[in-house]
Amino acid sequence: MDPRQEIINIGKQLHDQGLLVRTWGNISCRLDKDRILITPSGIMYEDLTPDMIVEVNLKDLSTKSKYKPSSELLVHVACYNARSDVRFIIHTHQVFATVAGSLGVKEIRAMVDGDDIRIPCAPYALPGTKKLAANVKKTIEKYRSENGIVMSNHGTICMGTISDEALECAMEMEEASKRFLHGYCHMDIESEFIEGFSSHINSGKIIYDKPDTPYRIKKIHEEIYERRPDVKYVIHNKSEACRIVSRRATHMKPLLDDFAQLIGTSVRIPINHHGHDGRRVIVRKNINAVFALDDGAFCLGETKDDAQAAALVLDKACIAQIAASRYGSANFLSYRDCIKMNRHYRNSYSKLAKR
Ligand SMILES: [Zn+2]
Repeated sequence: MDPRQEIINIGKQLHDQGLLVRTWGNISCRLDKDRILITPSGIMYEDLTPDMIVEVNLKDLSTKSKYKPSSELLVHVACYNARSDVRFIIHTHQVFATVAGSLGVKEIRAMVDGDDIRIPCAPYALPGTKKLAANVKKTIEKYRSENGIVMSNHGTICMGTISDEALECAMEMEEASKRFLHGYCHMDIESEFIEGFSSHINSGKIIYDKPDTPYRIKKIHEEIYERRPDVKYVIHNKSEACRIVSRRATHMKPLLDDFAQLIGTSVRIPINHHGHDGRRVIVRKNINAVFALDDGAFCLGETKDDAQAAALVLDKACIAQIAASRYGSANFLSYRDCIKMNRHYRNSYSKLAKR
């Protein structure tokens, strides 16, 4: 099969299984000793066509395409350089492996179908940096026999000699990570989106998706739109994880890169129904999640797509928050790194996705 088409097919399969969403994650394939193909930056998997796949020279990183290669190109290059046997690489932000990889462990270990699965975790570095690629390379060199590794607080690297092997690696990592979280954190939470009461703005008026939206919820929507004129869509996520956090936590600090990018640097959660400063909910500039006590969270966006993305990322972040509190420790991201990622995302990546 044409390797460009193969990349697209694997992307579709991962997308169908929920392991790849939106423009997050990327896929690459080795053509020969010196050349690879990689998915472009900022394109939705549903929209990918063979001509968009970028050819990259491993030696000088020169590219052949009118598209920009994925922002994690350096990580892929590091993997191909460290493992000459590898021909296919998938990078995902899949939920359970990423959550387990935010707890500060060196390895995620669990039994799956009688096999003792070991997933090494590369130390944290900001996404897209040389430091991250160096951390991944070191980890691969240390664990030569493992095809799957986690980049702490970020996502996975799944390697194989053929595409199916990398795909299987992604699925096995997810299963092993679920069991790890079950064993160490007593967690059996689904990754999900359960829509409560959502709305959007049309010609200056709030349009509620459901005609039976209760008065107390309408008040929350009104407050969000009043305090955040940049927001046009509010999506209410009542997933199990979001509800647990809305009931038990007082604030969320980022454990995952995509939370810092899409949601913000920290989110406060109201501790009583009278709210904060006499308001029911805490609405802040550049923070795209608003919790309601014991009722999940409202995810904000300028477009419907942005709000939906925030809802997905928030659910994963809530699963991570619960895992961290049950595990007793975790690797929280530094405030400085969060500010950097949030700014960078708002300035460049979101614009690219919109285009
Ligand atoms: Zn990534």
